[in-house]
Amino acid sequence: MSDRILVTARSFRATEGPHKQILRDAGYDLVECSQNRPLTAAELTPLMTDVVSAILGLDEVTAGVLAQAGRLKVISRFGVGTDSVDIGAATEAGVVVTITPGANSVAVAELTIGLILALARQIPYHDRVVRAGQWTRIQGIELSGAVLGIVGFGRIGREVGSRAAALGMRVLFYDPFPPEGGQAESCTIDELLARSDVISLHLPLTKATRNLIDARALALMKPSALLVNTARGGLVDEPALYEALASGKLAGAACDVFASEPPGDSPLLRADNFIGVPHIGSATLQTTLKMGLLASQNALAVLRGERPEGVVNPAVYDRIR
Ligand code: NAD
Repeated sequence: MSDRILVTARSFRATEGPHKQILRDAGYDLVECSQNRPLTAAELTPLMTDVVSAILGLDEVTAGVLAQAGRLKVISRFGVGTDSVDIGAATEAGVVVTITPGANSVAVAELTIGLILALARQIPYHDRVVRAGQWTRIQGIELSGAVLGIVGFGRIGREVGSRAAALGMRVLFYDPFPPEGGQAESCTIDELLARSDVISLHLPLTKATRNLIDARALALMKPSALLVNTARGGLVDEPALYEALASGKLAGAACDVFASEPPGDSPLLRADNFIGVPHIGSATLQTTLKMGLLASQNALAVLRGERPEGVVNPAVYDRIR
């Protein structure tokens, strides 16, 4: 019997293309789960017991899951965030973890610009007005000349910055570890929150960044400011965000990501000055194919004993040598 590769990532499964073919051509059987949401650790555990690799979406990989995955050599994340995987436990277990860096940057940046424009002119609200047979208007703001504050100036943050600059926005960023290059003004996080007309989050979710945008951070923002989160839900204290939107301390917010997905009956969904979309940042055909191919290539490379570029836990090689 052939070795098996588990695939949970929804768009990977739903799209046919070279990303699946190269796995089959290499002689692996694909095991595709049928859930259309991230799996909990309890749901993932039985699927991992017999596979040599797993191409995962945002499923919860805990030390407990890894303890039952005796044949697993590589977790290939279909995406770039690693907050859903216990990286320390994977390293300890000798399991390589890879991501698909850069493959989704343009898609997330384009969505971010779309959400900024939608907020600036309240496009979803006005659509609801017209559908209700009404003809009322809220005055918008122009992006040209407005200040965009980018928190996390990595691959996606920079793609957003260059697009915003093309719209005439002045771009500021805060990043404690900025990579070289990039044409924008750097400042402290508090300065960014206080000076920006639009704030956009593009940093990873870690213990240090959880609830970065809390009541204190929201209070530093201008009451006319707009907040966009296409990074991770846990970066924002959602009850504090709702309170700021409802009390007029913040003019608007748009989120592609939520602390819990789907967000259930989150009060945010009742706020007229809030826009929510269901984690569609990477969900374009082009990105699905690019990310899918890279995720498959990463898995195959590790299974062949190579070290692909997307490895996030290089310390694992001290364990498996
Ligand atoms: P990246 O690693 O290229 O950039 C992240 C940047 O954040 C880095 O430059 C890093 O130095 C910076 N950073 C780290 N800690 C910070 C802090 N405390 N404050 C400010 N900046 C900090 O990653 P990327 O490819 O640009 O992706 C960014 C994030 O976007 C991912 O971690 C992921 O959670 C999220 N994402 C979401 C979607 C989606 O579908 N909505 C898709 C892809 C990525």
